[in-house]
Amino acid sequence: MIKPGLKIGLILSAILVLPSLFFSAYEIGNLNQNEQVIDSIYLSQLESILFSVNQYSNDVLSGWANQLEKEGANLEEILEKNYSIDAICLVDSNNFQLFPKEKIPDDSLKILGNKLDEVYQDNLTKLESLQRYLKSGYQKIEFIDCDIYGKSICAFASLIDSSKVRSVFLLLNTNKFISENLGPKIQGIAQDRFFISAFKKDGNKEIYSNVVHEDEEKNIQQKKDFWLFPDYQLGIQMKGNTVEDLVRKRTRTNVILLLIMDVILLLAAWFVYRNIRQQIRLTQLKSDFISNVSHEIRTPLALINMYSETLEMGRISNEEKKHEYYKVINTEANRLSRMVNNILNFNKIESGRREYHFTKGNLKEEVESLLENYRQHLDKKGFQIDMFLDANLPDIKMDKEAVSEAIINLIDNAMKYSNNIKYIRIETEMKETFACLKITDHGIGIASADLSLVFDKFFRVSSGDLAYKAKGSGIGLSIVKHIMDAHNGKVEVESKLGEGSCFSLCFPIHQIK
Ligand code: ADP
Repeated sequence: MIKPGLKIGLILSAILVLPSLFFSAYEIGNLNQNEQVIDSIYLSQLESILFSVNQYSNDVLSGWANQLEKEGANLEEILEKNYSIDAICLVDSNNFQLFPKEKIPDDSLKILGNKLDEVYQDNLTKLESLQRYLKSGYQKIEFIDCDIYGKSICAFASLIDSSKVRSVFLLLNTNKFISENLGPKIQGIAQDRFFISAFKKDGNKEIYSNVVHEDEEKNIQQKKDFWLFPDYQLGIQMKGNTVEDLVRKRTRTNVILLLIMDVILLLAAWFVYRNIRQQIRLTQLKSDFISNVSHEIRTPLALINMYSETLEMGRISNEEKKHEYYKVINTEANRLSRMVNNILNFNKIESGRREYHFTKGNLKEEVESLLENYRQHLDKKGFQIDMFLDANLPDIKMDKEAVSEAIINLIDNAMKYSNNIKYIRIETEMKETFACLKITDHGIGIASADLSLVFDKFFRVSSGDLAYKAKGSGIGLSIVKHIMDAHNGKVEVESKLGEGSCFSLCFPIHQIK
């Protein structure tokens, strides 16, 4: 059969501990996956910010294309207003017009014109397809790959009138375009939350950043190509904590919280288990107590019964024998009354109703008066009593009745748990600020493992022949402890199995001066 304690442990594990441990293990296993999902969501958000920057640069160029298409568009004004456009070139099958931003010498103008013409010839197919797009209602803007003084060329098709189409080249200063045309937009998007930068692909040289402070550490995480300028890239990073930092921090916090939760749960389960185990033990001890007490009461009652009946029937004529019978009845009645008193006092302690009445008293006097009545009982049982009581022991504050009760409990135990050597030593001594009474026997002693338990209510040592056979209820020492606590004193025990025990009652003396 499974022990009740083990059963409760198993039930607690099945109901509480295992599911939560399983849940934690599952969650911790999933955290990495969650981390990846959150990571990809963050990254796609960053990506969409870069997308909007790219979208905006297309919008800027579309705006210019619209302006150029308007009837009587003033090219000088457009050039003047937009620093990043270095030149505009309008080309159709019969016409080639070049409008530079600044006046340049004729020969330079001619060289530039020739170069642009070359670009035009080289990209005829692309330009034709742009015109086709326009005719179908979509004005596409394309980057033209060439090298004219390090400038970028963007081309689109534009209507001259409803039937004629021409190609337009915008000769752009890319760096200026990014910083002046896109800069304000980037600042607006990034605010205080992101670093957004533009780089030249080859050499990874940063040509623009929304952050001016050099000391802010940048570790660009997400990069995207510029749609308009294939040689350039846009980069974005969160300010302060990076996405990985945030996700890692979150994961770490989650793991820590889960572990804390598990530890708390394990502790709680352990406390519940310990509590229930204690309750089971107490219930077991209580049931032992009832059977012990019934047993203990029955013996003196049987003796009293037997001797009183014999006397009543008048069968005993010998006076000496009669006297002996009366003595037995008296002793057994006293034993019974001590036992009942113990139980009643224990009950009062348990229900918190026990009251103490303190007066000034002396340990030596108390022991002497007690032994006056008790010595006979000890002699009869064959015990030798040695007393070493210090006449100069200071007075203490005590409840005399309770102190006598404690001493009798200890002497009774010394008698009960002594085998062949029937010797009890009672002595007083001063220990720091305590006046102590020591009761020593040479009985069966107590195993060190049981020493801390003997003051627990209902506890009885169950191993060893005598300990097992000796009658008792397991409440005597718990009463002694309670009495000593009420006196702000202490009860201590030193014992060696097979050699004997020494119990000390120590009372504080500083309270009485
Ligand atoms: P009981 O009624 O069983 O004597 P107590 O509370 O007085 O109950 O003592 C608790 C247990 O401590 C006893 O059952 C016994 O095993 C042990 N004990 C107490 N006093 C002595 C002693 N002087 N020598 C050996 N064992 C003792």
